[in-house]
Amino acid sequence: MSYRDESNGHRTFALPGARLQYGPDKAVDVEHIDLYLEPDLERQSLDGACTTTVRAYDEPVERLVLNAVDLEITSVECDGKPLAYSLRDGKLDVRFDPPLWPGHRAAFRIAYRVTKPRHGLFFVEPTPAYPHKVRQAWTQSQDENARFWFPCLDYPHAKQTSQTTVAVRKGLFALANGALVERKDERDRTIYTYRQDVPHSTYLMTFVAGPFVEARQADAGARKVPVFYYVLPGREEDGEAAFGKTSKMIDAFESRIGTPYPYARYSQIAVTDFIFGGMENTAATTQTERTLRDARARLDSSSDPLVSHELAHQWFGDLLTCRDWSHAWLNEGFATYFECIWRETDLGYDEYLYDVFTCIARYLEEDSERYRRPIVCNRFRDPIEIFDRHLYEKGCAVLHMLRGELGDARFWRAIGNYVERNAGRNVETIDLIRAIEESSGRNMRGFFDQWVFRGGHPEIEATVSWDAQRRAATVTIDQKQHVDEEQPAYRFAVDLGFCAEVPSAVAVNAGPGPLAGERRARLSVERAHETVTVPLDFEPKLVRFDPGAWLLGSIAYKFGAAYSAATLQGDPDPVARIRAARELAKDGSQLAREALREAFRSEPFWGVLDEAATALGQTRSPGAREILIDALHHKHPKVRRPVAAALGNFRTSETADALLTVAQADESYFVRGAALTSLGKTRDARAFDVLNAAIVEPSWNGVVESGAAHGLAELADPRAVAPLIDATRLGRDEGLRRSAVVALARAAQLLYEARAQIVDTVVQLLDDPAFLIQLAAIAAAEHLEDERALAALDRLGISGFDGRVRRDATEAAARIREAQKTPSQVSALRSDLDTLREEQRTLQEKIEALGRR
Ligand SMILES: [Zn+2]
Repeated sequence: MSYRDESNGHRTFALPGARLQYGPDKAVDVEHIDLYLEPDLERQSLDGACTTTVRAYDEPVERLVLNAVDLEITSVECDGKPLAYSLRDGKLDVRFDPPLWPGHRAAFRIAYRVTKPRHGLFFVEPTPAYPHKVRQAWTQSQDENARFWFPCLDYPHAKQTSQTTVAVRKGLFALANGALVERKDERDRTIYTYRQDVPHSTYLMTFVAGPFVEARQADAGARKVPVFYYVLPGREEDGEAAFGKTSKMIDAFESRIGTPYPYARYSQIAVTDFIFGGMENTAATTQTERTLRDARARLDSSSDPLVSHELAHQWFGDLLTCRDWSHAWLNEGFATYFECIWRETDLGYDEYLYDVFTCIARYLEEDSERYRRPIVCNRFRDPIEIFDRHLYEKGCAVLHMLRGELGDARFWRAIGNYVERNAGRNVETIDLIRAIEESSGRNMRGFFDQWVFRGGHPEIEATVSWDAQRRAATVTIDQKQHVDEEQPAYRFAVDLGFCAEVPSAVAVNAGPGPLAGERRARLSVERAHETVTVPLDFEPKLVRFDPGAWLLGSIAYKFGAAYSAATLQGDPDPVARIRAARELAKDGSQLAREALREAFRSEPFWGVLDEAATALGQTRSPGAREILIDALHHKHPKVRRPVAAALGNFRTSETADALLTVAQADESYFVRGAALTSLGKTRDARAFDVLNAAIVEPSWNGVVESGAAHGLAELADPRAVAPLIDATRLGRDEGLRRSAVVALARAAQLLYEARAQIVDTVVQLLDDPAFLIQLAAIAAAEHLEDERALAALDRLGISGFDGRVRRDATEAAARIREAQKTPSQVSALRSDLDTLREEQRTLQEKIEALGRR
């Protein structure tokens, strides 16, 4: 199998060793799992008893093979009688004698012990490097890691009810799935019993134990669901800020979906060192403690995306569960889309649209930089590999496009129908297709083939022209991606809008509908090149392409400066304004510059200015720099952040002057972080001291220190290496450590003499105890393209902590080998060329500056 697919220039998704994956057969129906758990937080062990009630299908069951990894089994019995069993390679083989007859039930009990587990169950404790960590235990069962903490048939296609009893030392709290049915004190212990009456899959089962404190919020939804959150003592206020909108989100989602929140209560618990952002365990979501923001971090970032994502999973993923991982976009695409839906509810349509737009951008980046695959795909080594931007972000964009295709009312009816008819069941993509077809009468097979079962997307360029003589506007749509018989042009319908006047100001949250007096035309696109001529009784001053930005793909306007300026001034669609701003930044004419300058004065939506700033930065022109320096004091921190980042493209002392104040004094951590990085890029003589001070200044999640780390890396100054290496050591903030590892790889590019020392540090970090640091070190090693990392990467590719580490390490090793095939002379010449280009730019700027004087 080749790593690169030569036919379309994209890397293939499947790594060597990947195979077609299908779910296992079912010999029994699991009806109920009863867990009795005694975690010992000091010894990092768990004594458990798992009683599983099963019913045989249509064949007598003599043996049942359960997943049980690293569990020490003490006994297996049924009705008080011992059952024979054997345990090998993570499989517990239980024998029924006499066999279990079809339709008959058995409840068998397995007593077991877990000690210092590798996965699935995690114990947190204070360490010499992090003495303030609080002892706790939490689980992470997705995708197939419940087997590390209880014996089970560990695959999403099975669902059962459960009861979980957790006995903890008095004073500690324990959480598990479902309703709290009993809490009692027994000698020095407190025993919590939870019951989940709605069947769920093993990957959604959880328990957490530790000294957490409880807060109860307003009951939510039609069924008045009690809503709780749990944080460690001292974090109550930050917890309220993070989770305070949960009840409102339940209300909003219920009214969109139509099916009430499915469980008896909803709890969220913020744990230390969590290995994901959040995990949607039924009725008991685990969240990373890093989502607890202090007041300053809340200025321009929030937990809402995470909280709304995990909440949406309670329907999409938990109540309706993908039957096998290849259809996991039905979990993740929906949860990601509902982040956008919450944004729409809470902040308005523009924010919704921009959220979808950024999802598409993230997907496009993965498609071009990493690999291309269909959203539904069952060829992989580990299920976790497909939890990527195709699954989340492209899945989200497909749902947005579906909403455009069906229209709002029909879309929500279809989603409602899908949830109602599949509640409690396992689903595949065909179930969604059928639900839409049933409620709308539309044939959706072509849509799903094109966007879900096939990889890729259209790369569209749109142009417009006005023929004054014929009184007609001509719009062309070109699909620039490779088109042949195997990969035909995309078929879609797109709306065009023509207005005689440009609104003098942008209407906020106007939605995708037409403006007053707008003339709409709908164009069916089937070929790679399409032209439509629309007769009009007025000369259009504003032309709208795909209002509502429904289309998934990379889309560029070639409208010319006048039309683009009109779009930026008055199109109510923020995505149209972003595309116009990009076009204008490239154009660079006086008219374009004026339009962009005006946007920084009057544009109401920060998202448009974010993209405009980035586009201006990429031009590296003095005109762009002037606009950006003026915009550095914009009132919105979400504008200042990308402006500060974009200024890193201009290596002048004037830029450094502007960045210095912001880097040291902006009220936002994120703005400061971006300004610090850009300050490093200016290589100004004053930068080192500022960056060296900021890299040890604590901030939420290490945002400021991380900005300083990236800035130090850009300095190309040997003095930067020591503080960067120091920032990677145990004891420093994990957010900073991750950034510093990546920053080191960048520093190595600029400082040949420090390369050996940096490679050495990165290779050591490949074995860091923190899994997220391992991932960062893999990314850094890939960046370094150094063969000295190959042995460690190859080892991690086989025996890494989990599928993500194994996948990333395998990809990195393959890329390093690929890079080494490029003759070193070529890479050396390339880097010389980069340096020369940079010098040319600097000289050009100096000449222009002299000209102005
Ligand atoms: Zn998710």
